[in-house]
Amino acid sequence: MEESEVHGYETFSMYGFSIEYPDTWDVELNPKADRTAGDVVFKTPHHHIFITWGPLEKMERKYGSLDKHAEASLRKIRRGSDVRKLDILEHKEIHVNAHKAIYNRSRATLAVGLFGMKKAYRELSTVHLYCEETARFFILYESAMILKPTMESIFQHMKDTFRCHYSNHSHRILKDDSKSDILHVYEKFSMYKFELQYPNTWRIEFNPKSARDRGYVIFSSPRNGKVFLTWGKIESVRDKYATLEDQVEAGFKRIRNNRDVRKLEIVETKKIKVNGHKAIFNNFLIETIGTFIIAVNLVNRKAFLSIDLYCDKTGRFFTLYTSSKDPSTFHEQNVIFNHMKDSFICH
Ligand SMILES: [Zn+2]
Ligand SMILES: [Zn+2]
Repeated sequence: MEESEVHGYETFSMYGFSIEYPDTWDVELNPKADRTAGDVVFKTPHHHIFITWGPLEKMERKYGSLDKHAEASLRKIRRGSDVRKLDILEHKEIHVNAHKAIYNRSRATLAVGLFGMKKAYRELSTVHLYCEETARFFILYESAMILKPTMESIFQHMKDTFRCHYSNHSHRILKDDSKSDILHVYEKFSMYKFELQYPNTWRIEFNPKSARDRGYVIFSSPRNGKVFLTWGKIESVRDKYATLEDQVEAGFKRIRNNRDVRKLEIVETKKIKVNGHKAIFNNFLIETIGTFIIAVNLVNRKAFLSIDLYCDKTGRFFTLYTSSKDPSTFHEQNVIFNHMKDSFICH
């Protein structure tokens, strides 16, 4: 079994909070998560560290205080169907990102096996805090089968680097587009050593199968616009494409060969620089024919913007693209896409 060896840490940042996690771990986001409530888990097969967030007001109403909230969480663990005993190893008040926080460490004795005849142990740590600045509560939660000292230091590091809000606005970037009165506040998304800035009203989603070597993230605007970021190992496509240009060209070929595609029009292609790499920018239109029986002449016209690049530093290729059906949003889409592209860092 693969041991969770930690070489260093990297930053996870989303919805205005951030944390440093081991740079060999996987990250999984609850698909239902949004800015107001959700959870994200950092994990290896035997070790899980969660961040849960939600509306502060709701918890204040329910529990009355942070201390009572933390106590209720312990009771909930104790009530677990396989929990025979819960020993509190440590209970203290600490400070996290200038908030008062409650830290609890406990060991659960579990009944396992077919008839619950065998015993197993699970180490659990929780940090509860209330962030008035963002009107959210946060719970950091660790669950590990056997906690070795090296593993314990991981939770400590994550707790110490956790930021639920920022005292200055250095991470928020206002961008004004003088042509159309568009004003967006951007914030940072970062994971697996890449990062970019996205408008702070947008929602983020990624597939549970997304991993360091292969995956995608979808950024969705409240108006239904979407920006996709996909990545993969350059090595995995080396035998298919000799160069980045070949890979991009093969992508267009696949679109042309799609039987629903009536027309592919490349409006502009150019070489640009992104994070020091050569990148290919494309602006193109795709017309597809609707498969409706009655509306025989229904043609869908979509505008795309895309950037493709190879990051030799991390051995990955990245594609950032956006599509839009509604011509009235083209300009705004363009402005946002350009900002996301300019802020993109892959290594
Ligand atoms: Zn805070
Ligand atoms: Zn790079």
